[in-house]
Amino acid sequence: MLTAIVGINWGDEGKGRMVDLLASEYDIVVRYQGGNNAGHTVVNHLGKFILNLLPSGILRPEVTNVMGNGMVIDIEHLYNEMGRLTSAGVKITPENLKISDKAIICMPYHVILDGLEEDRLGDAKYGSTRRGIAPVYSDKYMKKGIRMGDLLYPESLKKRLKGIVDWKNLTVEGVYNAPKIEYEDMLDWLDKYSKDIKDFICDTGIYLNEAAKANKKIMFEAQLGALRDIDFGIYPFTSSSSTIASYAPIGSGVPNLKLSNTIGIMKAYSTCVGEGPFTAEMFGDEAERLRKEGFEYGAATGRPRRVGPFDVVASRYGVRVQGANELALTKLDVLSYMDKVPVCTGYEINGQVVNEFPFGELLDNAKPVVEYLDGWKCDVSKCRKVSELPKEAIDYIKYIEKAVDCRIKYVSVGPEREDYVTMH
Ligand code: GDP
Repeated sequence: MLTAIVGINWGDEGKGRMVDLLASEYDIVVRYQGGNNAGHTVVNHLGKFILNLLPSGILRPEVTNVMGNGMVIDIEHLYNEMGRLTSAGVKITPENLKISDKAIICMPYHVILDGLEEDRLGDAKYGSTRRGIAPVYSDKYMKKGIRMGDLLYPESLKKRLKGIVDWKNLTVEGVYNAPKIEYEDMLDWLDKYSKDIKDFICDTGIYLNEAAKANKKIMFEAQLGALRDIDFGIYPFTSSSSTIASYAPIGSGVPNLKLSNTIGIMKAYSTCVGEGPFTAEMFGDEAERLRKEGFEYGAATGRPRRVGPFDVVASRYGVRVQGANELALTKLDVLSYMDKVPVCTGYEINGQVVNEFPFGELLDNAKPVVEYLDGWKCDVSKCRKVSELPKEAIDYIKYIEKAVDCRIKYVSVGPEREDYVTMH
């Protein structure tokens, strides 16, 4: 069984908690895109861990974890993340962690360039996490990337790195007038942070094909949501990788395998971090209350997230591009305070209501059409069965299910592992 768990919205849908919940049913958990630009918080008996690069299965001793070729890996960050876990007692060995030889290394100059470009853009910035993700993916497609497997061949790596650093400095010094990148520094950095991870590097395609043949259960976990996808998201306010389920086999090293299942994670209301069009956005006291109830503040920065009602147009689009065949609706408990629950049912553009997710300027000018459903006005966080949910909450779930045309299998009603209801 090959299952992808992906985000339907703008990210922060609660994928971490669903992956954590469902991981017990899988033998292998794979990350197939992105870098350390987002994170999951996983809590277990050893403590609370923020995972930016390692797959979520790393905290379960029986699970093998794979970091696929679609990822970009800052090895200093990985070294530190692994260090934090191992010093807390988590065992990480080449048996339970496999890193693709074809994943691209996110170098210190990528992080520097990310910051330089955001600063240059000023008020027009993209809202980058400044972790080097856009520059490193650009280099991948410029064929100027360094791959994890290159670490195993130091002599050819040295030669290649020299040419790349010379080329980088044309931009760093010439375009941004910033201090030169020193080749020796880059070599030292690679040497220091690669020592402990060389044994983990392998052809993940061979490993995953064997595993699939042996009927192992494989879960592909995505970072961010459909609306941040490089092709289908709110470009240019997107991530730089494909966050879409159908990319999972490619970004893992098994383009020959087909997914058997795609579970989309969708929030019961909307949130969006950073810049870009966000049609359903609420403002003022109404927004402040929802933000407070949902604790919608950036995990790293504490920055308030933008919030709004559930967005039918964006979510149906997200379900479609993800090819989700079932959904988990998260954070339903957060809406319990509302007398009437707002839903953005369409976008008004130039006096017309549209139901398909629009492009460019049309999206920028879209105004939300908001309708209201009855609220349930009671605590649903203790509900564990459909029969325990209030009628209005069930009506809300059914309404959304119909609107996005995909069945909702799980509804989460709290942050803890057991705080959820299976719907069917
Ligand atoms: P991800 O980036 O998609 O993995 O989302 P996060 O891991 O950032 O999850 C968002 C936050 O919501 C986390 O702090 C979770 O603990 C919390 N959370 C997830 N599901 C629920 C839920 O059903 N109810 C409540 N109240 N909080 C939840």
